[in-house]
Amino acid sequence: MLTTFVLAAIIGAFPPAAPDRRPVPILMYHVIAAPPAGARYPGLYVRPAEFAGEMQWLARNGYRAVTLERAWNAWHGLGRLPRRPVVLTFDDGYRSDFTNALPILRRLRWPGVLNLEVANTRPVWGTRPGEVEALVDAHWEIDAHTLTHPDLTRLSLAAVWRQVDGSRLAIRREFHVPVEFFAYPSGRFDREVEKLVRRAGFDAATTTVEGLARPSGDPYALDRVRVSGGVGVLGLAATLRALHA
Ligand SMILES: [Zn+2]
Repeated sequence: MLTTFVLAAIIGAFPPAAPDRRPVPILMYHVIAAPPAGARYPGLYVRPAEFAGEMQWLARNGYRAVTLERAWNAWHGLGRLPRRPVVLTFDDGYRSDFTNALPILRRLRWPGVLNLEVANTRPVWGTRPGEVEALVDAHWEIDAHTLTHPDLTRLSLAAVWRQVDGSRLAIRREFHVPVEFFAYPSGRFDREVEKLVRRAGFDAATTTVEGLARPSGDPYALDRVRVSGGVGVLGLAATLRALHA
C-alpha cells in the first residue's frame, strides 16, 4: 500500500515529457576579440565588450543558453528546454573562445558549443588541447567542423569521409566527448556530403543558412543566426524579433 503510494507519487512528479518541438535560435560566432588592423574578414571578430553586452541582453530578456544536444533531446522528448532557449556556437576553434568567451559565459553559468576544426588545436592562435579540455570541464559541447576546413562539395567522397568521420574520431579520442553534431565548413554541403555526415553517426548538422533551427526540417541542415562584429545588442534584438515573428 505504502509502496504503491510512493510509486504513484514518483510517477506523478516525473511524468514522461512530451517532446518540446519549439524552434531554437543557434547563434554563430567566430572570434571574440578586436579585429587586428587589416583583417581580411573583420565581421568574424566580435569585441569582448560587445559580446558581453549581447549575452547580458539575452539574459535580461529571458533567454538561457543550452547545448545543441539539450535542444535535440528536448525535441525528441528527453528533458525540457527553458522558456527562451538559445544555442551559442563558436566556429573553427580560436583561442579567444577560451580567453574571452568562456569567462563571460561562465559568469552566466551558460555553456557554449565549440565547432572545432581539428587542425586548429595546433597553432598558438587556436584552441590548444588544454583549452578545449577547459571548455569541456565548463560543460561546453564540442562538435566536429572537419580536420582542415575544406569546401566539402569539392572533394572526392573518400576525402569527405576522412574529413567528416576522421574529425569525429579525432575529437572523441582526444577529448572523450560524444561529438553528436557536425557543422559544415563555410556552410558548404550537398546531398552526398549530408549522406556521409549521417553515415558517420552524427545526429544532425548545422549550416550557415539564416533562420531558426526547427525539429520538423532536415536534421542535417539546421539553420543558424550569424552574429557579426558591429551587430550589437540592437541588431541582435531586431534579428531575433524578426525570426520569432
Ligand atoms: Zn568554419
